[in-house]
Amino acid sequence: MNNNSSFWEKQTFLKKADVIIVGAGIVGINAAITLREQSPKSKVIVLERGLLPKGASTRNAGFACFGSMTELIADLKTQNKDEVFNLVEKRWKGLLRLRERVGDENMDYFEHGAYELFASEDLEAFEECQDRILEFNQILKKITGTSEVFQVQRDKAKDYGFKGVQGLIFNQLEGQLHPGKMMQALWTHARSIGVDIITGVEVLGFESGKAGIAVRTANDVIFSGDSVLLATNGFTRRLYPGLAVQPARNQVLITKAVNQLPFKGCFHYQEGYYYFRNVGDRVLLGGGRHLSKLAEETDEFGHTNLIQSALLDLLRNTILPNVEYEIDQWWSGILGVGAQKVPIIKEIENNIFVAVRLGGMGVAIGSLVGEEAAELVLAK
Ligand SMILES: Cc1cc2nc3c(=O)[nH]c(=O)nc-3n(C[C@H](O)[C@H](O)[C@H](O)COP(=O)(O)OP(=O)(O)OC[C@H]3O[C@@H](n4cnc5c(N)ncnc54)[C@H](O)[C@@H]3O)c2cc1C
Repeated sequence: MNNNSSFWEKQTFLKKADVIIVGAGIVGINAAITLREQSPKSKVIVLERGLLPKGASTRNAGFACFGSMTELIADLKTQNKDEVFNLVEKRWKGLLRLRERVGDENMDYFEHGAYELFASEDLEAFEECQDRILEFNQILKKITGTSEVFQVQRDKAKDYGFKGVQGLIFNQLEGQLHPGKMMQALWTHARSIGVDIITGVEVLGFESGKAGIAVRTANDVIFSGDSVLLATNGFTRRLYPGLAVQPARNQVLITKAVNQLPFKGCFHYQEGYYYFRNVGDRVLLGGGRHLSKLAEETDEFGHTNLIQSALLDLLRNTILPNVEYEIDQWWSGILGVGAQKVPIIKEIENNIFVAVRLGGMGVAIGSLVGEEAAELVLAK
């Protein structure tokens, strides 16, 4: 019960907060920034269990994307058109907000565009995309103001040196960024406007009482606040097992610099289950979770032979078939996913809120999800 804390600590670090946010990823930090912007006198504390963010925000691929054609067509099978394109619009606006908040130059944002790859076995999907390209471009023009966002490119696959790829669909508006620089800039900005970010604090649970909410931690320190916002994405079920958000691990590799790398941009393959991009002269490649969905439904970091082999095969046989390269590093990150693609932003108990289930698009929507959650807390 904070028995070992000093009088001074109780008046500062441990003083009751207006809002305690759990999780210092893109959602938690954007929520904290919005709270301080809209209520500059409020005390906002972010508690993060890692020394750095330890989920997805500093471990992702850095695609600034809002949806490839096959992904949107797949979504239209389970959701109506309005829902699918509202989410596209949210991603688009979220990216604009992120770029405005962080600044392109502070996170190596480059608009090289993105491509979807179609191999021989994907020709039916390629045809369906071509049939619907006009319809999708009309909707995207309304959202982005740009004509012909999607374009068919048949010959580029050869220029890029890909093997067995029959065609590409280019999205001229998608970009790429450096997630580490993005998060570092967001943390720096949040701290500069008075947000307390305390790292190495794992939250274990909450008790509501007359004096507010007591937040129990693995450090034997109790924080208290009027409201709590969980921005814990793929780890949420450790605190709320009933919430419809599951963890999903993603494994990633990066090569060393490749001599005369023939392509630049972000690439989606097999409905986005595989993704790769250039990082300067290197290649980053990740995905393959669909090969063993059950085993990857975990919030433990790590690798498996099955997925590592699939990624290495794809790199050797399709992406860099005629090029010398060396693998530099592997890592993994944890997503929060569910049957529905929309995030969960709501009050789940009196004054306890969640903003989770960002799927594979948190770079795009994380800023707006954080903002929306902050506004929900402030409206209470
Ligand atoms: C490998 C990979 C590639 C991806 N690629 C892309 C991409 O290219 N483009 C894209 O848009 N999205 C991508 N994503 C998804 C994107 O990264 C996520 O949607 C986004 O980062 C989620 O942000 P978040 O703030 O909700 O969660 P997180 O970044 O996971 O943050 C949650 C934080 O909560 C902390 N936490 C959890 N439990 C506790 C607790 N009990 N106490 C204290 N702290 C706690 C965690 O340590 C973590 O830092 C990718 C994800 C992965 C894993």
